Amino acid sequence: MSLQRIFQADAYGQQPVTQNFWHRAFEPEVLGEPLQEEHSCEVAIVGGGYTGLSAALKLAQQGVDVAVLDARHIGWGASGRNGGFCCLGGTIAEDDELIRRYGEVEARRYFYAERAAIDLVAELLDQYEIDADVASKGETVLAHKPRRVDQLKDTAADIQKRYGISCHFHGKDELTELGMNASGLSAGLTIPVGFALHPYKYARGLAAAVKSQGARFYEQTEVLSIVPADDGQYVLKVRKGHLRAQKVLLATNGYSSENMPEWLAGKYLPVQSNILMTRPLSEEELKRQAGSPIRWHMTRGHCCITSACCRTIG
Ligand SMILES: Cc1cc2nc3c(=O)[nH]c(=O)nc-3n(C[C@H](O)[C@H](O)[C@H](O)COP(=O)(O)OP(=O)(O)OC[C@H]3O[C@@H](n4cnc5c(N)ncnc54)[C@H](O)[C@@H]3O)c2cc1C
Repeated sequence: MSLQRIFQADAYGQQPVTQNFWHRAFEPEVLGEPLQEEHSCEVAIVGGGYTGLSAALKLAQQGVDVAVLDARHIGWGASGRNGGFCCLGGTIAEDDELIRRYGEVEARRYFYAERAAIDLVAELLDQYEIDADVASKGETVLAHKPRRVDQLKDTAADIQKRYGISCHFHGKDELTELGMNASGLSAGLTIPVGFALHPYKYARGLAAAVKSQGARFYEQTEVLSIVPADDGQYVLKVRKGHLRAQKVLLATNGYSSENMPEWLAGKYLPVQSNILMTRPLSEEELKRQAGSPIRWHMTRGHCCITSACCRTIG
Protein backbone atom coordinates (compact mmCIF):
# COMPACT_ATOMS: atom_id res chain seq x y z
CA MET A 1 0.00 0.00 0.00
CA SER A 2 1.48 3.38 -0.93
CA LEU A 3 0.28 6.94 -1.19
CA GLN A 4 -0.11 8.58 -4.59
CA ARG A 5 1.61 11.91 -4.16
CA ILE A 6 1.47 14.91 -6.49
CA PHE A 7 5.01 16.22 -5.90
CA GLN A 8 8.31 14.38 -6.29
CA ALA A 9 9.12 11.89 -3.51
CA ASP A 10 11.77 13.98 -1.73
CA ALA A 11 9.22 16.75 -1.10
CA TYR A 12 7.72 14.49 1.57
CA GLY A 13 10.93 13.49 3.36
CA GLN A 14 13.44 15.15 5.67
CA GLN A 15 15.22 17.07 2.91
CA PRO A 16 12.85 20.08 2.83
CA VAL A 17 13.42 20.76 6.53
CA THR A 18 17.11 19.98 6.99
CA GLN A 19 18.28 23.26 5.43
CA ASN A 20 15.24 25.23 6.54
CA PHE A 21 15.93 28.54 8.29
CA TRP A 22 13.42 27.95 11.08
CA HIS A 23 14.18 24.27 11.62
CA ARG A 24 17.92 24.82 11.93
CA ALA A 25 17.34 27.06 14.92
CA PHE A 26 16.62 24.32 17.46
CA GLU A 27 16.20 20.62 18.03
CA PRO A 28 12.66 19.86 19.21
CA GLU A 29 11.78 16.99 21.53
CA VAL A 30 9.90 13.97 20.25
CA LEU A 31 6.19 14.45 20.98
CA GLY A 32 5.02 10.96 20.14
CA GLU A 33 6.40 7.58 19.07
CA PRO A 34 5.28 5.98 15.78
CA LEU A 35 1.96 4.15 16.09
CA GLN A 36 2.36 0.38 16.38
CA GLU A 37 -0.22 -2.38 16.86
CA GLU A 38 -3.88 -1.53 17.63
CA HIS A 39 -5.17 1.58 19.34
CA SER A 40 -8.39 3.56 19.50
CA CYS A 41 -9.57 7.10 20.15
CA GLU A 42 -12.68 9.24 19.74
CA VAL A 43 -11.25 11.64 17.15
CA ALA A 44 -8.25 10.94 14.96
CA ILE A 45 -6.61 13.97 13.38
CA VAL A 46 -4.37 13.33 10.38
CA GLY A 47 -1.79 16.12 10.04
CA GLY A 48 0.07 17.95 12.80
CA GLY A 49 0.15 21.51 11.45
CA TYR A 50 -1.80 24.52 12.72
CA THR A 51 -5.09 23.08 11.40
CA GLY A 52 -4.75 19.72 13.13
CA LEU A 53 -3.26 21.22 16.28
CA SER A 54 -5.93 23.90 16.67
CA ALA A 55 -8.68 21.32 16.26
CA ALA A 56 -6.93 18.97 18.69
CA LEU A 57 -6.61 21.73 21.27
CA LYS A 58 -10.31 22.65 21.10
CA LEU A 59 -11.38 19.01 21.33
CA ALA A 60 -8.95 18.04 24.08
CA GLN A 61 -10.01 21.09 26.11
CA GLN A 62 -13.53 19.65 26.04
CA GLY A 63 -12.37 16.27 27.28
CA VAL A 64 -12.47 14.46 23.93
CA ASP A 65 -9.99 11.60 23.51
CA VAL A 66 -7.90 12.90 20.58
CA ALA A 67 -4.96 11.43 18.68
CA VAL A 68 -2.90 13.47 16.19
CA LEU A 69 -0.93 11.53 13.58
CA ASP A 70 1.76 13.02 11.38
CA ALA A 71 3.75 11.34 8.62
CA ARG A 72 6.87 13.23 9.79
CA HIS A 73 7.09 15.32 12.93
CA ILE A 74 4.68 17.90 14.31
CA GLY A 75 5.24 21.16 12.42
CA TRP A 76 7.04 19.49 9.50
CA GLY A 77 4.64 20.98 6.91
CA ALA A 78 3.86 24.57 5.97
CA SER A 79 3.18 25.40 9.64
CA GLY A 80 6.86 25.03 10.45
CA ARG A 81 8.16 26.64 7.27
CA ASN A 82 6.14 29.75 6.53
CA GLY A 83 6.95 33.46 6.57
CA GLY A 84 5.90 33.95 10.19
CA PHE A 85 3.49 36.78 9.43
CA CYS A 86 0.64 36.74 11.91
CA CYS A 87 -0.90 39.80 10.31
CA LEU A 88 -3.64 41.07 8.04
CA GLY A 89 -3.19 40.75 4.31
CA GLY A 90 -4.17 37.19 3.55
CA THR A 91 -5.15 38.22 0.03
CA ILE A 92 -3.27 39.97 -2.75
CA ALA A 93 -6.46 41.88 -3.50
CA GLU A 94 -6.81 45.15 -1.60
CA ASP A 95 -9.95 45.97 0.40
CA ASP A 96 -11.45 47.98 -2.48
CA GLU A 97 -11.18 45.01 -4.78
CA LEU A 98 -12.76 42.70 -2.17
CA ILE A 99 -15.66 45.13 -1.75
CA ARG A 100 -16.12 45.38 -5.51
CA ARG A 101 -16.18 41.61 -5.89
CA TYR A 102 -18.02 40.48 -2.75
CA GLY A 103 -19.71 43.56 -1.30
CA GLU A 104 -18.99 45.61 1.82
CA VAL A 105 -20.51 43.16 4.31
CA GLU A 106 -18.41 40.21 3.12
CA ALA A 107 -15.22 42.31 2.94
CA ARG A 108 -15.76 43.47 6.52
CA ARG A 109 -16.51 39.95 7.67
CA TYR A 110 -13.23 38.82 6.11
CA PHE A 111 -11.31 41.64 7.81
CA TYR A 112 -12.77 40.80 11.22
CA ALA A 113 -12.07 37.09 10.71
CA GLU A 114 -8.41 37.91 10.04
CA ARG A 115 -8.33 40.09 13.14
CA ALA A 116 -9.93 37.39 15.23
CA ALA A 117 -7.32 34.89 14.01
CA ILE A 118 -4.51 37.24 15.07
CA ASP A 119 -6.17 37.75 18.47
CA LEU A 120 -6.53 33.99 18.88
CA VAL A 121 -2.83 33.39 18.23
CA ALA A 122 -1.91 36.18 20.67
CA GLU A 123 -4.23 34.64 23.27
CA LEU A 124 -2.75 31.15 22.83
CA LEU A 125 0.81 32.47 23.05
CA ASP A 126 -0.13 34.13 26.29
CA GLN A 127 -2.29 31.41 27.81
CA TYR A 128 0.18 28.57 27.16
CA GLU A 129 3.31 30.70 27.62
CA ILE A 130 4.60 29.78 24.16
CA ASP A 131 7.95 31.33 23.35
CA ALA A 132 7.76 31.93 19.60
CA ASP A 133 10.14 34.90 19.29
CA VAL A 134 7.28 37.33 18.76
CA ALA A 135 8.56 40.54 17.16
CA SER A 136 7.22 43.75 15.62
CA LYS A 137 3.95 45.57 16.01
CA GLY A 138 2.03 44.92 12.82
CA GLU A 139 3.54 44.62 9.38
CA THR A 140 5.14 46.99 6.90
CA VAL A 141 3.94 46.87 3.33
CA LEU A 142 6.55 48.17 0.90
CA ALA A 143 6.23 50.18 -2.31
CA HIS A 144 8.65 48.68 -4.79
CA LYS A 145 7.61 51.12 -7.51
CA PRO A 146 6.96 54.89 -7.31
CA ARG A 147 3.38 54.47 -8.50
CA ARG A 148 2.64 52.31 -5.42
CA VAL A 149 3.33 55.27 -3.11
CA ASP A 150 -0.06 56.92 -3.68
CA GLN A 151 -1.77 53.54 -3.46
CA LEU A 152 -0.25 53.02 -0.01
CA LYS A 153 -1.53 56.44 1.09
CA ASP A 154 -5.01 55.50 -0.16
CA THR A 155 -4.80 52.17 1.68
CA ALA A 156 -3.95 54.01 4.91
CA ALA A 157 -6.92 56.34 4.48
CA ASP A 158 -9.28 53.43 3.72
CA ILE A 159 -8.16 51.42 6.75
CA GLN A 160 -8.66 54.46 8.97
CA LYS A 161 -12.11 55.20 7.55
CA ARG A 162 -13.42 51.63 7.52
CA TYR A 163 -11.83 50.12 10.61
CA GLY A 164 -10.59 53.08 12.67
CA ILE A 165 -6.98 51.91 12.56
CA SER A 166 -4.23 54.52 12.16
CA CYS A 167 -1.42 53.31 9.91
CA HIS A 168 2.02 54.89 9.71
CA PHE A 169 3.32 55.99 6.31
CA HIS A 170 7.12 55.88 5.85
CA GLY A 171 8.78 58.01 3.21
CA LYS A 172 11.97 56.83 1.51
CA ASP A 173 14.27 58.49 4.08
CA GLU A 174 12.41 57.11 7.06
CA LEU A 175 12.54 53.62 5.58
CA THR A 176 16.29 53.99 5.20
CA GLU A 177 16.60 55.13 8.83
CA LEU A 178 14.67 52.03 9.89
CA GLY A 179 17.14 49.85 7.99
CA MET A 180 14.46 48.63 5.61
CA ASN A 181 15.60 50.31 2.45
CA ALA A 182 18.91 48.94 1.23
CA SER A 183 17.36 48.18 -2.15
CA GLY A 184 15.99 51.68 -2.80
CA LEU A 185 12.29 51.22 -2.11
CA SER A 186 9.94 54.15 -2.64
CA ALA A 187 7.90 54.07 0.58
CA GLY A 188 6.30 51.83 3.17
CA LEU A 189 3.17 51.59 5.25
CA THR A 190 3.07 50.04 8.71
CA ILE A 191 -0.32 48.55 9.54
CA PRO A 192 -0.21 48.15 13.33
CA VAL A 193 -2.19 44.91 13.56
CA GLY A 194 -0.55 41.58 14.30
CA PHE A 195 3.07 40.57 14.71
CA ALA A 196 5.81 38.33 13.40
CA LEU A 197 6.67 35.02 15.02
CA HIS A 198 8.86 31.97 14.61
CA PRO A 199 6.38 29.66 12.86
CA TYR A 200 8.00 26.39 13.85
CA LYS A 201 8.39 27.36 17.50
CA TYR A 202 4.74 28.39 17.46
CA ALA A 203 3.68 25.02 16.02
CA ARG A 204 5.74 23.16 18.59
CA GLY A 205 4.45 25.34 21.42
CA LEU A 206 0.90 24.75 20.28
CA ALA A 207 1.62 21.01 20.25
CA ALA A 208 2.88 21.19 23.83
CA ALA A 209 -0.37 22.94 24.77
CA VAL A 210 -2.36 20.17 23.03
CA LYS A 211 -0.40 17.55 24.93
CA SER A 212 -0.98 19.35 28.23
CA GLN A 213 -4.72 18.96 27.58
CA GLY A 214 -4.37 15.18 27.32
CA ALA A 215 -4.19 14.55 23.55
CA ARG A 216 -1.82 11.93 22.09
CA PHE A 217 0.67 12.31 19.25
CA TYR A 218 1.94 9.69 16.85
CA GLU A 219 4.86 11.13 14.88
CA GLN A 220 6.59 9.41 11.91
CA THR A 221 3.21 7.78 11.31
CA GLU A 222 1.96 8.05 7.77
CA VAL A 223 -1.72 7.19 7.43
CA LEU A 224 -2.02 4.94 4.40
CA SER A 225 -5.77 4.46 4.27
CA ILE A 226 -8.99 5.26 6.11
CA VAL A 227 -11.53 2.48 5.94
CA PRO A 228 -15.09 2.74 7.30
CA ALA A 229 -15.84 -0.20 9.62
CA ASP A 230 -19.18 -1.99 10.08
CA ASP A 231 -19.74 -0.43 13.51
CA GLY A 232 -19.67 3.12 12.07
CA GLN A 233 -16.12 3.75 13.17
CA TYR A 234 -13.08 4.30 10.94
CA VAL A 235 -9.90 2.28 10.75
CA LEU A 236 -6.76 4.29 9.96
CA LYS A 237 -4.08 1.98 8.65
CA VAL A 238 -0.44 2.81 9.19
CA ARG A 239 2.67 0.79 8.33
CA LYS A 240 2.88 -1.10 11.63
CA GLY A 241 -0.60 -1.02 13.04
CA HIS A 242 -3.94 0.74 12.98
CA LEU A 243 -6.06 3.20 14.89
CA ARG A 244 -9.81 2.94 15.31
CA ALA A 245 -11.64 6.25 15.61
CA GLN A 246 -15.25 7.39 15.87
CA LYS A 247 -14.47 10.48 13.84
CA VAL A 248 -11.61 11.51 11.58
CA LEU A 249 -10.38 14.98 10.69
CA LEU A 250 -8.16 15.33 7.65
CA ALA A 251 -5.69 18.21 8.09
CA THR A 252 -3.10 17.28 5.49
CA ASN A 253 -2.97 20.53 3.49
CA GLY A 254 -0.93 20.45 0.22
CA TYR A 255 0.80 17.29 1.50
CA SER A 256 -2.33 15.25 0.91
CA SER A 257 -2.40 12.35 -1.52
CA GLU A 258 -4.67 11.20 -4.30
CA ASN A 259 -5.71 7.97 -2.60
CA MET A 260 -5.88 8.78 1.11
CA PRO A 261 -8.84 8.87 0.99
CA GLU A 262 -9.70 8.19 -2.64
CA TRP A 263 -12.32 10.95 -2.89
CA LEU A 264 -9.54 13.52 -2.42
CA ALA A 265 -8.16 12.77 -5.89
CA GLY A 266 -8.09 15.87 -8.09
CA LYS A 267 -9.49 18.08 -5.32
CA TYR A 268 -6.33 20.10 -4.57
CA LEU A 269 -3.70 21.76 -6.72
CA PRO A 270 0.09 21.69 -6.76
CA VAL A 271 0.92 25.35 -6.05
CA GLN A 272 4.34 26.28 -4.78
CA SER A 273 5.33 29.27 -2.71
CA ASN A 274 8.99 29.84 -1.86
CA ILE A 275 11.01 32.00 0.48
CA LEU A 276 14.75 32.18 -0.22
CA MET A 277 16.94 33.23 2.68
CA THR A 278 20.62 34.16 2.57
CA ARG A 279 23.14 33.95 5.38
CA PRO A 280 23.34 37.19 7.41
CA LEU A 281 24.75 39.89 5.11
CA SER A 282 27.49 42.35 6.02
CA GLU A 283 26.89 46.12 5.91
CA GLU A 284 28.98 46.26 2.75
CA GLU A 285 26.92 43.55 1.05
CA LEU A 286 23.71 45.26 2.05
CA LYS A 287 24.86 48.56 0.56
CA ARG A 288 25.69 46.82 -2.69
CA GLN A 289 22.01 45.78 -3.03
CA ALA A 290 20.90 49.41 -3.54
CA GLY A 291 18.94 49.68 -6.76
CA SER A 292 18.83 45.91 -7.19
CA PRO A 293 15.99 44.90 -9.52
CA ILE A 294 15.25 41.90 -7.30
CA ARG A 295 12.47 42.28 -4.76
CA TRP A 296 13.88 41.48 -1.38
CA HIS A 297 13.52 42.48 2.18
CA MET A 298 15.41 42.21 5.42
CA THR A 299 14.52 39.68 8.02
CA ARG A 300 16.70 39.84 11.09
CA GLY A 301 19.87 40.68 9.18
CA HIS A 302 19.29 38.14 6.43
CA CYS A 303 18.26 38.94 2.90
CA CYS A 304 14.97 37.31 2.04
CA ILE A 305 13.45 36.94 -1.41
CA THR A 306 9.92 35.67 -1.67
CA SER A 307 8.04 34.51 -4.71
CA ALA A 308 4.68 35.60 -3.49
CA CYS A 309 4.82 38.56 -1.17
CA CYS A 310 6.59 41.82 -0.51
CA ARG A 311 6.17 42.50 3.18
CA THR A 312 8.73 42.78 5.89
CA ILE A 313 8.97 41.72 9.51
CA GLY A 314 11.22 42.18 12.50
C1 LIG B 1 6.25 29.50 1.77
C2 LIG B 1 5.01 29.74 2.60
C3 LIG B 1 4.90 30.92 3.33
C4 LIG B 1 3.75 31.17 4.10
N1 LIG B 1 3.71 32.28 4.89
C5 LIG B 1 2.67 32.48 5.73
C6 LIG B 1 2.69 33.57 6.64
O1 LIG B 1 3.63 34.36 6.69
N2 LIG B 1 1.61 33.73 7.47
C7 LIG B 1 0.56 32.84 7.46
O2 LIG B 1 -0.38 33.04 8.24
N3 LIG B 1 0.53 31.77 6.62
C8 LIG B 1 1.58 31.56 5.77
N4 LIG B 1 1.59 30.45 4.96
C9 LIG B 1 0.44 29.53 5.01
C10 LIG B 1 0.48 28.63 6.26
O3 LIG B 1 1.79 28.18 6.50
C11 LIG B 1 -0.48 27.45 6.04
O4 LIG B 1 -1.76 27.94 5.71
C12 LIG B 1 -0.61 26.58 7.30
O5 LIG B 1 0.64 26.26 7.85
C13 LIG B 1 -1.38 25.32 6.95
O6 LIG B 1 -1.41 24.51 8.10
P1 LIG B 1 -1.97 23.05 8.01
O7 LIG B 1 -2.01 22.49 9.37
O8 LIG B 1 -3.25 23.07 7.24
O9 LIG B 1 -0.93 22.23 7.09
P2 LIG B 1 0.58 21.80 7.31
O10 LIG B 1 1.27 22.60 8.34
O11 LIG B 1 1.20 21.74 5.96
O12 LIG B 1 0.44 20.34 7.91
C14 LIG B 1 0.00 19.24 7.16
C15 LIG B 1 0.60 18.00 7.80
O13 LIG B 1 -0.06 16.85 7.28
C16 LIG B 1 0.86 15.79 7.34
N5 LIG B 1 0.39 14.71 6.48
C17 LIG B 1 0.11 14.75 5.16
N6 LIG B 1 -0.29 13.53 4.72
C18 LIG B 1 -0.28 12.71 5.79
C19 LIG B 1 -0.59 11.33 5.98
N7 LIG B 1 -1.04 10.55 4.98
N8 LIG B 1 -0.45 10.80 7.21
C20 LIG B 1 -0.03 11.56 8.26
N9 LIG B 1 0.28 12.88 8.13
C21 LIG B 1 0.15 13.45 6.92
C22 LIG B 1 2.17 16.42 6.88
O14 LIG B 1 3.29 15.65 7.29
C23 LIG B 1 2.10 17.81 7.49
O15 LIG B 1 2.86 17.91 8.68
C24 LIG B 1 2.69 30.20 4.14
C25 LIG B 1 2.81 29.01 3.40
C26 LIG B 1 3.95 28.78 2.65
C27 LIG B 1 4.06 27.49 1.87
